[in-house]
Amino acid sequence: MGKLKKGSRCTICKAKGGKEKAVVFLPHHRLALCKNHYIQWFEKRVEKTIKEFRMFSKKDRILVAVSGGKDSLTLWNVLTKLGYEADGFYIDLGIDQYSEDSKNLSLKFSEKIGRPLHIISLNNEIAPIPVIDKSTNKPACSACGTVKRYFMNKQAKELGYNIIATGHNLDDEAAVLFGNTLHWDIKYLKKQYPVLKEEGGFIRKVKPLCKITEKESAMYAFFNNIEYIEYECPFSEGASSIEYKEILSKIEEKHPGTKLQFYTNFLKNMYPILKEHYEQESNLRTCKICGEPSFSEICGVCRLKRSVEKSSIHS
Ligand code: AMP
Ligand code: ZN
Ligand code: ZN
Repeated sequence: MGKLKKGSRCTICKAKGGKEKAVVFLPHHRLALCKNHYIQWFEKRVEKTIKEFRMFSKKDRILVAVSGGKDSLTLWNVLTKLGYEADGFYIDLGIDQYSEDSKNLSLKFSEKIGRPLHIISLNNEIAPIPVIDKSTNKPACSACGTVKRYFMNKQAKELGYNIIATGHNLDDEAAVLFGNTLHWDIKYLKKQYPVLKEEGGFIRKVKPLCKITEKESAMYAFFNNIEYIEYECPFSEGASSIEYKEILSKIEEKHPGTKLQFYTNFLKNMYPILKEHYEQESNLRTCKICGEPSFSEICGVCRLKRSVEKSSIHS
């Protein structure tokens, strides 16, 4: 998002003979927009992405994974406005005040749009993240990612949804792509697509905000009076993805559009090659303990459970 020149008029209003003042400037789309046209532009862009990647249709039952942050609440708002059947799912990770605040904001939003929010608490399933963190030698973020993926999938199936939508935005996707490219990590690169198809116990997962930047999503939330958690999870401090985001944003400032090009040209030019050359080896099986899909004999969550049980730390 760039700096607005004083007195700029909305590009779309101007084309229609109007004189509305612009409140947002999108340099890489060469657009200056008023509030209403920004909201319209944003929703159209999300809908176009849904159609481009054939993510889902109005017949599908969508579960939006909601964190209480701007992206997932914005996504839930847009899907509902576009007429999709989308309910929310929140995992209470038990990270003290952070989880309390984000849960309350998610609940408040669910009431505002009149759609149900399903909630599970990690404390009832395994243990809160701070306890898991102390019981294992894995970084908290990696354990957190494992439990989120697992419970999103399990809950969606149990509740009869056939799509999981997450709020990952362009900054998230470009930062992950940057990290995976720095390491030439083919295993992850070949999976980096905004749609993961349904297979062997995994249901379809989609990222409809993959072409929306973090700033664009914050602006949408602001214009729609969406209240969201404004501080970061205390465990995310020092994560390498934050560094990558900063580097990419510096480049973006000088060369608007770089982030979007980096990501979309990967999808267009590189992803098909990786997909063809590195055919997905199908080592997918079911966990011996819980029966959920897993890439090893025992799934990541059952292994975490074991570590917590073995350690003497309790919540
Ligand atoms: P993060 O992993 O925090 O970058 O979040 C990425 C996406 O995962 C969010 O946009 C949400 O869709 C989903 N998500 C994150 N945290 C939660 C949570 N506690 N409960 C449900 N979904 C979540
Ligand atoms: Zn306008
Ligand atoms: Zn398991």
